[in-house]
This record gives sequence, C-alpha cells and structure tokens, in this order.
Amino acid sequence: MSELLKKKKNSFLACPEDAQAAYDYCEGYKAFLDKSKIERFCVEEAVRIAEGAGFVAFEYGKEYVPGDKIYYVQHGRAVIFAIIGSQPMTDGFNITAAHVDCPRLDLKQVPLYEDSGIALMKTHYYGGVRKYQWVTIPLALCGTVCKRSGETIRIDIGNDPSDPVFYISDLLPHLAKDQKEIGGEDLNIIVGSKPDADSEDQSCKTAVLKLLNEKYGIVEEDFETADLSLVPAGNARDIGLDRSLIAAYGHDDRICAYPELTALLELKGIPKKTCVAVFADREEVGSMGISGMRSAYVPDFLKELCGDKNARQAFANSCALSADVNAAFDPNYPSVYEKRNSALLNHGVAVSKYTGSRGKGGCSEAPAELLAKLFKIFDDNGVRYQTAELGKVDQGGGGTVSQFLADHNILVVDIGVAMLSMHAPYEAAGKIDIYHMHKACVAFYENY
Ligand code: MN
Ligand code: MN
Repeated sequence: MSELLKKKKNSFLACPEDAQAAYDYCEGYKAFLDKSKIERFCVEEAVRIAEGAGFVAFEYGKEYVPGDKIYYVQHGRAVIFAIIGSQPMTDGFNITAAHVDCPRLDLKQVPLYEDSGIALMKTHYYGGVRKYQWVTIPLALCGTVCKRSGETIRIDIGNDPSDPVFYISDLLPHLAKDQKEIGGEDLNIIVGSKPDADSEDQSCKTAVLKLLNEKYGIVEEDFETADLSLVPAGNARDIGLDRSLIAAYGHDDRICAYPELTALLELKGIPKKTCVAVFADREEVGSMGISGMRSAYVPDFLKELCGDKNARQAFANSCALSADVNAAFDPNYPSVYEKRNSALLNHGVAVSKYTGSRGKGGCSEAPAELLAKLFKIFDDNGVRYQTAELGKVDQGGGGTVSQFLADHNILVVDIGVAMLSMHAPYEAAGKIDIYHMHKACVAFYENY
C-alpha cells in the first residue's frame, strides 16, 4: 500500500547511488551541448553518435525488420531516430519528442553596414528572448551559407577559445537614465573596426567583407542565401562547489533531446514496441515551418514504417512523451511560482499534466489513465519524478509540441527537466535530474 502522505524528496538523498552515474552521464551531455549550438549542428552531432551505434539513414520503400535502427533527417534541422520493435506496429509506437532549436539572434538578409567607424550586422531575434540579457556577452556566429553555385559553407566562429567573438554594446550607467528597455533594432553586433586602407572607400565594412571572402569565399549577396545565427560563445560549465548543476546555452531543449537518444542507445535487445525519438525544430516560434512539429514529416515517417492502412490503429495505440523543459522554483523570484505545484531542482523529472496559460488555454492535457500507467513504470524502474505546473495561474504560461502529437490521435504527456533562467543565454539545470530524464526515457521505451 502507498504511504498515506506524499513527501517531496531530493534525488541526491532518495537515490545517492545515482549521484556518480549522473555526474559521469553529464560529461557526455556537456560535450554534446558544446557541439550543438544551433539545430543544424545538433542534428549533425546526434546523427554522428547514432551512426556510431549502428543507426543508418532511412530509405523510402525499404522493409524494416525488428531490431533495425534508422534515422530520418528533415532538411538538416530536425531528425527522427527509430528502433523497430518486435511487436506489430499496430500495437503502437513509444515516441519521445523534444526540440533542438533555441532562442537566439538570427542575422538579417542584408546585415552588414558601417556607422561611425564601426562595422556592424543587423539581427532579428528568434524565440522568446529577454533582450537585455544578450548585450555585452561574447557571441558566436553559426550556420550555413548556400551559394547560388550550389556550394554550401559551414560557419562556426567564436566557439573555439582561439576564435574572435561578436559583441553587442550597451549604454554605460552614467548615461542610462532614460533607457527603459532594449529594442529589437538595438541588437546589432560589432564585427570589425579596422578600415581597409587599400580599398577605394577605405571602410571597415569592406575590410570585413574581404576577411569573409578570404576565409569563406563569400560575398555580400551570399547573406541573402544563408541561415546564420548568433549564439552565446563558450562551453557548458559546472555550477557550484559540488558541481551539481550545469550552466549552458541551449539546455532548452537539448537537455531532453540528448536523453531521448542516449536512452535509445541503451535499450538492451530488441524493444517490444517500435521506439521513436524526435528532435524537432521551430518549437520556440510555435512549431510552424517545414522542420517544425506542425509539418507532416513525423506522422509521414511513422506511416512509412507501419504502412498507410495500419496508421490509424498504430497511432491510436501510441504514446508520446513531449520532452521539454519546465521552470524550477527560483528562490530569487518566489512571487511568480505556486510552491506546492512547482518543480524543485534535483527532485526528479518534471511531469506536467497540462501546460498552456490562463484557463489551461492552448494545451493538450494528459488523461489520468496515462499518468497512472507512466508513474507506475517510473516507480518500478527507479525513475525520480515530480508533478509540476509552470508558475502561478494567470502569471504567464507556455506550450510545447504535445498538442501537435495529440492532433494525430497520439496520447501525449509533457515531461522534462526543471531548470532556472529558461531562455537566458546561460541556463542552469541539475545533473541528477538530467540523468533521470535518461532513465525516464529508457523506462518508457521498454515498458509502456
Ligand atoms: Mn522548450
Ligand atoms: Mn523554450
């Protein structure tokens, strides 16, 4: 019989035997983060890891058999991994779905200009950013330039310690009396200040273009055909004397994507159900777009596996974890949280029955039957979890990809790692929670 009273317990106290495993696991996670600053790089790195474990690229029309490990890349910016299970696919898929895009500053189409002896580039922020957090920090430029010739050029400047970085200035406090907030058009990055003496206009802009041309072979019009983003430069670091937390750019949501993949790699033998891990793009802007969860590529991939005529039955019997981060209670800002129903750091993966805002608007709520079955699986497999609601009612709210899975008649529940400073250039999360996200995915794949 269950205890009459339910007590919250810190995972370090509840399962001290997992502490070292969590610290070891997070070394791999940090290395993954450092190579995954943008969704394209994240997809590349995840595919590299999966190929090392025997995954091969999906082929249309091919018959897959139990035990086959495949991946499907969507335009270089999203990826689906799958291991074919031993049971018929009409029994349903066990799906985990995270996203690998993060808030950032994208370069505009015509970015480069010069003003007052400084070469700058215009940006357009992507996703929910608090703009003041992005000034006066080192930024890296990452992405792809597609030349009209068909050549593509990978750009990654600022992440290697020997690289230069980019920078957005801010007012000095002495002159900031009237500054209310930083505007979107204020987020202009400094890219140079040394004029080109040999050029006709002797400008810094020409000097920057010459450097880009020498190193990457690109010219100004190539910015029109590029996906380039500014992201915080530098690597993930441990926080605290006990090294129990990790500070990093892009925890949201690689902190759930990485465990989805490591859990797939850890499955022993052939799983009963076909297990699927989705790394989606575009979640931070509402999941629309060719690589977002509103696109048909995820259900279409599943239909390719189970066959069109079986799809309705397969989807109806499927279950998905919408794997995304949650907000941990922050003692610096208690007023926006309802403490009893907020996730606490290091207290297990955060499961949200519902997300949304106001009267649960814009969310897909998980039915009680699903939660009871999932929590039983977690209890039986030593997975630490806690229920969580993101902040106070009417304080704000948020959404995930869960509703877009529910649209296909797939049962879905929100689960993820609770963190501090979500969407900041440097977010913070607990190592033992990250490890239990991995354990949660393993338990789900094997037992749901
Ligand atoms: Mn997220
Ligand atoms: Mn987010």
